[in-house]
Amino acid sequence: MLSARLAADTDADILSHVCFEAGALGCEERESMVIAWFPLQNARTLIQDVNQRLASLLAAGILQGTPSLSTSVIEEQDWHSGWRRFFKPILVDRVFCVRPPWEKTPEPVAHEIIIEPKQAFGTGNHATTWLLLKKIAELGAALPERALDVGTGSGILAIAHALYRPGSRVTACDIDPVAVENAQENAAVNGVAENIALFTGSLPALKQERFPLIYANLQSHIIEPLLPDFYRLTAENGIILFSGILAEEEDKMRRALDDDARWELYEITRRDEWIAMSVRKRV
Ligand code: SAH
Repeated sequence: MLSARLAADTDADILSHVCFEAGALGCEERESMVIAWFPLQNARTLIQDVNQRLASLLAAGILQGTPSLSTSVIEEQDWHSGWRRFFKPILVDRVFCVRPPWEKTPEPVAHEIIIEPKQAFGTGNHATTWLLLKKIAELGAALPERALDVGTGSGILAIAHALYRPGSRVTACDIDPVAVENAQENAAVNGVAENIALFTGSLPALKQERFPLIYANLQSHIIEPLLPDFYRLTAENGIILFSGILAEEEDKMRRALDDDARWELYEITRRDEWIAMSVRKRV
């Protein structure tokens, strides 16, 4: 694991946003500073990415002064004092507890989801993931037998669906082969490997099937150009749960959905600076 300490004259949530965008698995916010954990693989590229993002925020006047970034490699055996202590169990109602293998569930829940923090996004401690886990928990018995998870990352949403809707079949994809590998491992650890069909790729590769429910925790600039594909792949009256949208992008997303005119936006849920949009396909 690579630990990065990032300080700048701005809100810590802007800094943690920068780190998550660059691929951090977790961030701890302090005043005007964050400590973020990155997978060691591709560390150099990740840090370049953080630096580039900082440079554009500086250019846009969002950061003042010169941000400072320092990194250190954390050995696995330092875990008791290091990054592992940050990955705590995450509760979603009484339905899910997402936890790393070394933690215990603090209170009884319907399903535990065990996720080892590795390269893929989706350890449960990001608001965008939490918003969709909450929707899954609320849907409960209304969860359909078939679902699609686009940008599955660690596989967390597909796993949650498969656990909460026994006998379901979830198709899950990611353009990142490392994520697909992680998702496969996590599906097996959680006993739902048979319920989840994974592939490396994205919506254009899906031809035949129409899905009554689609999860898409992707950023808005990725979602927008894919709207026609989303439409093609959603069953009649099917729904899509979009997440990964910043609150300040709400109007932009609303406009994209309105321009398309084929979607009914029926709910927005919020956590921190993030929103999730539930939309229904108009027939
Ligand atoms: N579903 C997980 C992970 C979300 S992170 C969760 O909710 O926590 C978003 C993931 O989408 C990343 O793993 C990224 O590799 C993947 N991704 C980005 N663009 C994509 C695209 N066009 N099609 C499919 N996956 C994509």
